[in-house]
Amino acid sequence: MTQGRGRGGIGGRFLTEEEKQQQPKVTKELLARVFSYLKPYWKHMLLVMVCIAAASFCSLLPTILTGKIIDEGLIKGDLRALVTYILLSLAVTFGSNLIGVAESYINTWIAQHITYDMRNQMFSHLQKMSQRFFTTNNQGDIITRMTSDIDGVQQVITNTFTSILSNTITLIIAMTAMFRKNWILALIGIVIVPLFTLPTRRAGKTRWKYANESQACNDEINGILNETLSVSGQLLSKLFGKEKYEYDRYEQANGRMIKLNIRERMAGRWFFVILSTFTSIGPMLIYLVGGLLMIRYHHNLTIGDITVLVTLLGRMYMPVNSLLNIQVDWIRSMALFTRIFDYFDIPVEIQNAPDAVTPEHAEGNVVFDHVSFGYEPGRTVLKDISFTLNAGRSIAIVGPSGSGKSTIINLIPRLYDVGEGRVTFDGTDVRKLDLEFLRAQVGVVSQETYLFNGTIRDNLLYARPDATDADMEEALRKANIWDFVQNQPEGLNAMVGNRGLKLSGGEKQRLSIARVLLKDPTVFIFDEATSALDSISEQKIQEAIDPIIRSHTSILIAHRLSTILAADEILVVKDGQIVERGRHQELVNAGGVYQELYETQFSKALAPAGAQGDEPAGDLEQLLWGMQPGDEPG
Ligand code: ATP
Repeated sequence: MTQGRGRGGIGGRFLTEEEKQQQPKVTKELLARVFSYLKPYWKHMLLVMVCIAAASFCSLLPTILTGKIIDEGLIKGDLRALVTYILLSLAVTFGSNLIGVAESYINTWIAQHITYDMRNQMFSHLQKMSQRFFTTNNQGDIITRMTSDIDGVQQVITNTFTSILSNTITLIIAMTAMFRKNWILALIGIVIVPLFTLPTRRAGKTRWKYANESQACNDEINGILNETLSVSGQLLSKLFGKEKYEYDRYEQANGRMIKLNIRERMAGRWFFVILSTFTSIGPMLIYLVGGLLMIRYHHNLTIGDITVLVTLLGRMYMPVNSLLNIQVDWIRSMALFTRIFDYFDIPVEIQNAPDAVTPEHAEGNVVFDHVSFGYEPGRTVLKDISFTLNAGRSIAIVGPSGSGKSTIINLIPRLYDVGEGRVTFDGTDVRKLDLEFLRAQVGVVSQETYLFNGTIRDNLLYARPDATDADMEEALRKANIWDFVQNQPEGLNAMVGNRGLKLSGGEKQRLSIARVLLKDPTVFIFDEATSALDSISEQKIQEAIDPIIRSHTSILIAHRLSTILAADEILVVKDGQIVERGRHQELVNAGGVYQELYETQFSKALAPAGAQGDEPAGDLEQLLWGMQPGDEPG
């Protein structure tokens, strides 16, 4: 939420232009929804109201007792009454503060519990959001919703709610007390208080306007400074001879700034003139009219009464001013809730079907049956993809960048749902399978290996919390990274750093292979990294992946010839379609896209021999396909 600058104080709070334009529509549904969060705590809220009422009453009581102190103690000269009222006054003040403590405890408790509920609800809702949500929404926005927006709710409950209640109660008590003392003077009070608050609001608004303008001007000055006093900015202005232009620009903004600052200060001064004039007019009027009533009309008003009335009047300015500002708080609060509810209302795109099934066993047969898909409406990324991956077999997907390879594998664990056709797992449409079951069957080693900041052990246990050290060692050995772990002084307890930054690219990939091995899924998916690794790292990864491909159901996006050769079938994808399929040799012989892919990459370096594609291709082949010496195409 945009917080207005330079607001607060008795001058009032105001909405920014942006806030005015984006005022939420306060409907019955919105209010009902807001109150549904308060409802579980209604008993606590009732208690808070009682406390607020009691505290407001107790805080006004000493003012009323002042009248007794003056009339019955001082004027009548009754020492006993004087001491009694003084003690009573002190006791009531103390009591009021005690109630205040209790009230703020319960209030904070309620606010914290409501935000606790909301945060949990939001977190769990966001967890259910699809990949699409996270790729299309700004991460900063998501975090803001989770943190500052929900913190704002706490503010609404502890401040806005309490302030409305306590100010209203204080006003009611003060007015009642005034009317009981003297209705004429009370009426004067009612007229005077708004007369005081309205001009101060106006002065506050002017001041706020200047503060906003000067802030904007300040931003502009900072922008100029950043642009022109940076290394490249300086260079640019020197080379283009723009020193004078930049100086003029700065000088103008600087000049505007001082004018605004002077105006803002002076508006502040006028504000205090108005403020002090009005605050002294009120009491003087009461003294004058009260004096008239006493002296001229021999009214039974006492000096104590007049003192009480003057003090009560002083106590009314703040609550009236606060209540006049409530509208601003109210609009801000409603905007806040609307923003939060908007997030809650984003439908969960991928979730368990009501009739989702959890099979007893999984074999790992994956079938794509005429699948079409697009991330955005109107833009098809996959067209009529059909293939069968039988349990125990492996498929390599190859194709140019952006052809849709990663998209195909995203559909298997239901990171996205197909547009047309269906993806089945062991004969059941994945949309009909229990999501938890489905995702447990699929182990993905993605291009971007994500390790969280913790130890190697923590990262491994994430896949299988009950894994023993022996299990971990086995997985690490298979992933060809055990030697590395063993060489760490802390072994499994070595920290991987933020996002695994303390590890090399190759180590991260092997560690994430170990993590997937520990998960022990039915189907392995490898999205081979295109990023260049040195040949030793490549080889180590290759040695880890090859046996998995040969012994497990797997599907891999391959960039290296050796991985392609290890697969039982190769699918060639181009522009979202499978254009060829078969084994390496067949595809090379077929003379289509695959051969082109293969040949263009080899033939550049090799003259006629390489064009056949059957021979070991030399250095460039290794570079492009990541092929290791000795990996014979075949
Ligand atoms: P690479 O080999 O470079 O990883 P790829 O063959 O795996 O490429 P995909 O990542 O499947 O290609 O992308 C296929 C198409 O879909 C591309 O045009 C890409 O721009 C688009 N695309 C991928 N992810 C998204 C997304 N989250 N939202 C919108 N479009 C996307």
